[in-house]
Amino acid sequence: MRLRTLLAVAAAKAALTACHLSGRPGSSLPGRAALKIDPHIIAPLAADIRRGIIVTCGTNGKTTTNNLLCSMLEAQGYRVVSNRLGANMLEGVAAAFATSAKRPLGYLFAKGPLGYLVDAKRPLGYLDADFACLEIDEASAARVLQDLRPDYMILTGLFRDQLDRYGEIDLTMKALEKAILEAPEMTLIINGDDPLTAYLAKNSAHRVVSFGVSERVANEVDEIREARFCENCGAPLRYDFYHFSQLGVYRCPSCGFCRPEIDYDASGVRLSPQLSFDVKEPGTAPVKISAPMTGFYNVYNILAVFSVLRQMNLPTDKFNEVLRSFRPQFGRGEVFHVGANGGQRVLLNLAKNPAGFGQNISAMLQDRSPKDLIIVINDNAQDGRDVSWLWDVDFDRLADETIRSITVSGLRAPDMQLRLKYVEIESDRAPDVESAIDRLLAAGCENLYVLVNYTALYEAHRYLEGMQK
Ligand SMILES: [Zn+2]
Repeated sequence: MRLRTLLAVAAAKAALTACHLSGRPGSSLPGRAALKIDPHIIAPLAADIRRGIIVTCGTNGKTTTNNLLCSMLEAQGYRVVSNRLGANMLEGVAAAFATSAKRPLGYLFAKGPLGYLVDAKRPLGYLDADFACLEIDEASAARVLQDLRPDYMILTGLFRDQLDRYGEIDLTMKALEKAILEAPEMTLIINGDDPLTAYLAKNSAHRVVSFGVSERVANEVDEIREARFCENCGAPLRYDFYHFSQLGVYRCPSCGFCRPEIDYDASGVRLSPQLSFDVKEPGTAPVKISAPMTGFYNVYNILAVFSVLRQMNLPTDKFNEVLRSFRPQFGRGEVFHVGANGGQRVLLNLAKNPAGFGQNISAMLQDRSPKDLIIVINDNAQDGRDVSWLWDVDFDRLADETIRSITVSGLRAPDMQLRLKYVEIESDRAPDVESAIDRLLAAGCENLYVLVNYTALYEAHRYLEGMQK
């Protein structure tokens, strides 16, 4: 077993070097190589984690939540293993562990031959880290959790996702239910405003901690709701109000299922010009939070991170400082400054499902300065072949005086254009995202929003990053 782990670590490292040499990101190939040799490589490496393992699941907000948590822990001086680039299937998680493990030879030199032999418990493939923070795809979660025993699982919320990869949200729920059963010791940290995650938590025997927003936040519009019916008995849920999608303050009039008591409650929420709110925790004074981000969903991402830090009794004194310098990963509200003296601002955001799109539109409309918009929709395997969800997004909200023009692109540009036409919004078409960006910047656009779905993200990101340099 130990030799196997050693060989698997070596294979992962070799694969990572090969990826770097060929200019690829190397986020899951090393994991694939390692798993071929040791299918359970995650278990022995995870056992080396000194202080805690936190996994993040949920259809939206995983990457931001996980990366923010990593940044918070690193700011306290901890060593963290994570899959920051968002490779969140089994291979990605295996890669995160295997490529972070110490090189066996390096360990030999560090400990000396005697120390190497004496430390017989973990002589090979040793991992030197305080925490592991991993985002995990719902469909892979049960398999990953067979080998990984997290202390905490954050559930950010469940929204209808790439339809033909998961089927319906019910399948995602079942997958998570199975994963949760794999790790009976972990604490669930859930978005209490989401009846779907609340139902998952209520139905488990786990310890549950919840975060949420108990007050009505102004300027939010009703969008699609995934769970209008009680998961427990099927009766329609009653809402005092919605935040967005199915999130809000709800209860079932028939069986009594209701929003849980909220442990970390945000109040005084302001969404613009940047996010600010207070978090109340029972028995302590409210903590003021402010972050240079927009979008209601980021309130939840921040609350999730705050909750888990508090649960682990870790200090939160650097919380706002870390938020101020936090750079969102790879197209999660990433801002680029391009053109002469960086005078043209481009905001790139991933929008892969109706809830994500709705939230992106809300955040964009809170910016009241004139803007142009590019929407790129692909239908590659990772995106989901079925783009019928475009009809669930309230695109009529794009008929706003601050939006000067809309350009669509991507493999399903005609569908997108038709969708806009249906709500009487004119759009231009561009052959690819690069030419769309070029065209608008050449026309003098100073405030450009680029909303893309999954496979269009890398292309757009690479292009904008190149322009910024
Ligand atoms: Zn019910």
